[in-house]
Amino acid sequence: MTENQKKWNRRDSMKMLGLGSAGMLGLFGGVSSAVAQEKPAYAKGMAPIKIKSVKAIGTRPGGSNLIVVKVETTEPGLYGLGCATFTQRAFAVLPAVEYLNEFCAGKDVDNIEDMWQSAYVSSYWRNGPVLNNALSGLDQALWDIKGKRAGMPVYQLLGGKVRFAIPCYGHANGKTPEEVATDVQSFMDRGYKYIRIQQGGYGGAGISGTPDFKKAGFAQETDGYMSQGTYLKSVPKMFEAVRKACGEEVELLHDIHERVAPIDAINMIKNLEEYHPFFIEDPFSPENMEWFKELRASTAVPIAMGELFNNINEFKLPMVNHWFDFIRIHVSQIGGLTPAMKVARLGEFFGIATAWHGPGDVSPVGHAAQAHMDLALWNFGIQEAALFPDEVKEVFPGAPTMNNGYMSVNEAPGFGVEIDEKLAAKYPMTTKSSWTVRKDDGTIIRP
Ligand code: MG
Repeated sequence: MTENQKKWNRRDSMKMLGLGSAGMLGLFGGVSSAVAQEKPAYAKGMAPIKIKSVKAIGTRPGGSNLIVVKVETTEPGLYGLGCATFTQRAFAVLPAVEYLNEFCAGKDVDNIEDMWQSAYVSSYWRNGPVLNNALSGLDQALWDIKGKRAGMPVYQLLGGKVRFAIPCYGHANGKTPEEVATDVQSFMDRGYKYIRIQQGGYGGAGISGTPDFKKAGFAQETDGYMSQGTYLKSVPKMFEAVRKACGEEVELLHDIHERVAPIDAINMIKNLEEYHPFFIEDPFSPENMEWFKELRASTAVPIAMGELFNNINEFKLPMVNHWFDFIRIHVSQIGGLTPAMKVARLGEFFGIATAWHGPGDVSPVGHAAQAHMDLALWNFGIQEAALFPDEVKEVFPGAPTMNNGYMSVNEAPGFGVEIDEKLAAKYPMTTKSSWTVRKDDGTIIRP
């Protein structure tokens, strides 16, 4: 072997071991001060910061209970916010956050995945909406902190933008098909290209008259009522009227809200084919998932599902089997941004798009977390619009904004949303929850 060959052999074997001269020095602790000084700032990592406290802030500025978790750190002025809103059982979330405070204090703010995994199993019994919402508050707050630490909006940490803003759907309603069409037109005039249509609210509850159970004095006067037969007949008529009045271009969505028997949902969806809905949402309750096989064999109308799922594992088999087309995750319900991103990325493999659940009982912090994911996800489908009342915008400065049917976030580091805690305290939460819906004879309907 010549001298040159010997040199090359040594260099190649060093490379194969991943050890250049700097690597060798580093490995044996012999980095010279000159080399250390040359190290650029980005290669030095970030100084460790610990979690100081985790607390819940409850408020009700727009008429819905909202809970935001605030994670404070050992770095003065550095904190994060995350959505932990379980509006129907809001007070149950507060002590769950206290457990997280005890669990997290003194731990590293940077290790989000580790924190999620360890907090998730820290109760041993897990996987319910109360603990998941508390966990979501923690998880999103850590992402908010991560963005602030990096000096970047969170969407940058998720890969950067794949769209300039987020297409959203608005909610059109009305007591008659004509009223719904008029409302659709008003959304179109404001630039919306996607509109969800409901006649008389979910299940047509507002068009169903006075039920026999109320006449008989059964149950509570305040209980809701829907006639499943009236509803099933009204939906195709509503679609027909809206298509006639508003044309073929606008994308129309509808939410069954799981309120009818599975076979009735299938037959109704088949009757909607000629109006080519963008998607039909929640055809079945989560207890009836097996019916998706029959639904998919019967019609190719796109389906959105999943807002009541507790755990990302519930998405796995339906997605592998192509049972639905839109991932309808309620992000705080499944534990935050970290698990939601896993399902979204899985969707890319199966041609399934996102459609995060974004009603008024998601806080502006939660809407912002969704929006940052929407900006970065290639397989984004559609986003439920967030039209915040003024009181909500005052409590949450920096909330996402709507313009021409698109949602935008501000470019501040993290999620870009703040909370005015003093103002939030002026809107106390309540224990009110009104999800009781009955048939004519008083039988409970899953809402
Ligand atoms: Mg829904």
